[in-house]
This record gives sequence, C-alpha cells and structure tokens, in this order.
Amino acid sequence: MQPRSNPSATPLRVVIVGGGTAGWMCAAGLTRLLPNTDYALTLIESDEIGTVGVGEATLPHIRDFNAMLGLDEAEFLRATQGSFKLGIEFVGWDKPGGRYFHPFGVFGERWGGTDFQHHWLRARAAGHDVGDLADYCFAAAMCREGVFDLPNEDTRSIRSTFAYAYHFDAGLYAAFLRGWATPRGVRRIEGKITEVTRNPESGLVESVTLQSGAMIEGDLFIDCSGFRSLLLGSTMGVAWHDWSEWLPCDRAMALPCASVDGITPYTRATAQAGGWTWRIPLQHRTGNGYVFSSTFCSEEQARETLLGAIDGAPPADPRLLRFQAGRRAKGWEGNVVAIGLSSGFLEPLESTSIFLIQAAITDLAKLMPFPGCAPDPRLAAEFNRLYEIHYDRTRDFLVLHYTANARHGEPLWDHVRTMALPDSLAHKIELFRAAGRAPDYKLGLFSRDSWLAVLVGQGIEPRAHDRLADRLPLDEVVERLTDLRERIATNAASLPAHAEFITSYCAAG
Ligand code: FAD
Repeated sequence: MQPRSNPSATPLRVVIVGGGTAGWMCAAGLTRLLPNTDYALTLIESDEIGTVGVGEATLPHIRDFNAMLGLDEAEFLRATQGSFKLGIEFVGWDKPGGRYFHPFGVFGERWGGTDFQHHWLRARAAGHDVGDLADYCFAAAMCREGVFDLPNEDTRSIRSTFAYAYHFDAGLYAAFLRGWATPRGVRRIEGKITEVTRNPESGLVESVTLQSGAMIEGDLFIDCSGFRSLLLGSTMGVAWHDWSEWLPCDRAMALPCASVDGITPYTRATAQAGGWTWRIPLQHRTGNGYVFSSTFCSEEQARETLLGAIDGAPPADPRLLRFQAGRRAKGWEGNVVAIGLSSGFLEPLESTSIFLIQAAITDLAKLMPFPGCAPDPRLAAEFNRLYEIHYDRTRDFLVLHYTANARHGEPLWDHVRTMALPDSLAHKIELFRAAGRAPDYKLGLFSRDSWLAVLVGQGIEPRAHDRLADRLPLDEVVERLTDLRERIATNAASLPAHAEFITSYCAAG
C-alpha cells in the first residue's frame, strides 16, 4: 500500500465526465500515476450520447503511455485490431502528383557538429546527385518497402533510428482501457448528465446530476465530454479561440471499408480540391475519410470524392461530422480541467488529438492538487501554460502543410497559400528558408526531424546551408552520403512485410 501524502485528509474526489478515448485514457493514466489512497476516481459516460467514434491513427508517444500502464503490446494489438505506423505519406500536398513521407525517424547522422540536412544541402548545391532527403531516413525507406520490424536496441545500428506508433480502432482502445481501469478502482457510472451545480460564491463545480436523479459530488472535475465541452465551455464559460482563419476545414466524412491485401505501415493523407482524404489501414478494415472546408466544397462533392478514393466496397453511407479548429482560452478553470475534444480540436492531419490527450494527462498528474489542501491557482496557471504550448505548436505544424503549396488555381489552396500566417510559424519558415535550420524544441510534439520532413516535403528551398557543414571535406561528405543511402536501402529491403510481421507478432504474444 502506498503511503498517503496527508494521512488526515480524505481522498480527493476526481470526477471524469465522459468515456471516450479521452475519458478512459485519463482514468487509466491517473489510476497508474497517482496513489490510489489519495484520489478516488469516478467516470461518468452516457450510452445514449455515445462517443465521437473516430480517431484511428496515433503518434509514437502513445507507446510511452501504454508502457506506463504496463500493457502487453501483442495483446493490445489483438484487442484493438491495430497495425504499426511508421509515418504519414502526403500525396499531392506540395503540388498535384507530388508525394513525400513524414517518417517517425531520424534523418541521417550528425557529422562535424551540425545537423545532417546541411551536408545534404551542401552536396546538392555543389551539383552531386545525392537523391532525396528521405533516402537518408530508415523509417521512410521502411514505408516505401511496406515492411516492419521492431527497432534494434543497439543504438549504433541504422535499424535503431526510428520510432513507431499504431493505427487502431479507437472504440476498441477505449473499451480495452475500461477493462484495465475498472478492476483497479475506477468507479464507472452510466448515465446522462442533465445538470451541473456550482458553488454560488466560489464558482467551483460541486456536483453533476444525472437524468436518473443521482447526484455525483466531486472536488476536481475532468471534462472529457467531447465537442459538447459540458463543463469547461458550457458551464464555466471559458472562451473559444477560433483558428479557422488558418485551418478552414470544418467538416469530415468518415467511411470505413474492407481491408485490402498488404496493410501499409503508414497513414496516407491525399490532398483534394476541398481538403484532404485519409486512409488508415487496420487489421480488420481500412479507415477512410474526407476532411474538407464547407466554404470550398459541398457535402455532395465530398461524398463523391470520398467514394472515389476508397479501396474496398463501402459497407454503409459516410458519416458527417462538423467541427471548428481552435482551442479554449484555458484548459483549466476553477476546479475543471478539460481533456480531449472538450479542450480543443485540430484536424487529424498529423494524428495529434490522442497525443494532446496524453500530454494533458501527464501534465495534470504532475500538477494534481493534494487532498485536503486549498485550491492553488498556480497549478492551473502552469497547466494552462503547457496547454497553450502544445496546442499552438501543433497548430503551426499543421498550417505549414497547407501554406507551402503549389496547387495553383484551386480556390482552397490559393487561399491557404496567400493567407497571413501566425507570427510564430512565419518565423520558423523564414529560419529554414534562410539557411536550412529546422525548429528544435525540447517541449512540444514534433521534433526537428518532423519539421524538416514537412519543410522539405512541401518544397521550401533553403537559400544556403549552415557554414559549420563546410568544415568537412566535400568528397568525404559525398562518400558518407552514398554509404548511408546504400545501408538504409539494403537494410530496409531485408525486413519482413508489415502484414506478415503483424500476424506472427500477434500470434506469438
Ligand atoms: P468523445 O469520444 O466524443 O467522448 C465524449 C464522452 O462524453 C462520451 O462518452 C459521451 O457519452 C460523454 N458525454 C458527453 N456528454 C455527456 C453527458 N451530458 N452526460 C454523460 N456523458 C456525456 N485523433 C487522433 O489522435 N487520431 C486520428 O486519426 C483522429 N482522427 C479523427 C478524425 C475526425 C474526423 C475527428 C472528428 C476526430 C479525430 N481524432 C483523431 C480525434 C479523436 O477522435 C478524439 O480526440 C478522441 O476520440 C477523443 O474524443 P473524446 O473522448 O474527447 O470525446
């Protein structure tokens, strides 16, 4: 039994409102991270309302979350019909017919004290045929070959230079986490909340009341109610920051279809006249959808485009979802913390929502109020600072895909190419354009390599390279580049096909 941080205090009553991916990730994560003698977790979900029911692609950080819970990977993949994801293929984003990968891996090696791309830029500028930057990324080579293996633990091996994530059925994942969290002490209540009661003096939420009349009291409320934002938005009235000036897509049509042979180890995002279509391969089906802007594309046009883009026969009619890009002004107000769609929404172009959920859970666990202590506004202030960073940097990364395009003559793409950018993004693009420098953050979702993949992939050409790269003799650089490119191609070609790997891994686990 874990010691109590304040033995005289009663446990802090934490009420999670919502049982979608956000609610159950939150319940499972907090159960694992917090001493259960200090916190009593209750989760309320409504069968009548249900969940948003989409969200199938993730980022490598999800592996840390699953590992923190101690989940067995093969069991998790079997339970969620999951597949491995090594990156995203962007088709037609830079220009019609163009394609590039955002791989979950490192580009090249660090030679002579500077980032790899500067050597590649220098050799290319000197007239050497050094291929694409992606030729120097093992994860990109694996995507191209359609192969998969777990990363090598020997960090000197080229096969150790990538990370991976999953595609999975998000509904099955939430159910899996529910099965994990409830035996470990999370109290689950099914019912629809019809009333929220606040203390008239402090403004803090005291309780929620269900349609059945049952009242659930709490000290801290985590709003995982989805787009409704029942507590943070509707009850606490925290303002919405609308980002549709930069991210004009506001609709999605989702339509799964039967799997086809050869599950790809990557998501595909294909630019279309009114937005983009996604293709996400799972074991039992392929997830498809069209994210589009209602200003530039009608629902009928979207339906036609989507039906034309899928591989297999559709089992049903597409499902339409409406949204707006943006976030709340704060993620934590009073004793309400919003996690998931209730806190904000960014279109699933880089599969960022589940990561944002995970980041918020980790931040909240670190800043959790202690039982029996007076509310400390500094905890909320720190949470909100991190919340802004996560959302705003992710927004910049998404906008980059749109703004740097050469799809001339298409109204949506002309609009996003010429719109005014957030200052923070304009700065990053100029930094890269001047001398190939990619943003390098310690905090935030996307690494230097991810920014590099998209900056180069979208066709932004640096005018120069970092002069530190000139310290190595050019001949030596070209020789090293040739050797690295060959090693990557040979190693990738020797790995098992992705579908084959999944079958044997799931059978053995
Ligand atoms: P929901 O799933 O909507 O859950 C809300 C919960 O609150 C439900 O349990 C509901 O019953 C409950 N609730 C609401 N009101 C009440 C009430 N009054 N009383 C009781 N309970 C209530 N994310 C990714 O990471 N990768 C992707 O590939 C991806 N693709 C997406 C595609 C689209 C088109 C969309 C719209 C989103 C996508 N997302 C993706 C986002 C992802 O779907 C969500 O982040 C994730 O599912 C979390 O949703 P949620 O739990 O916040 O909300």
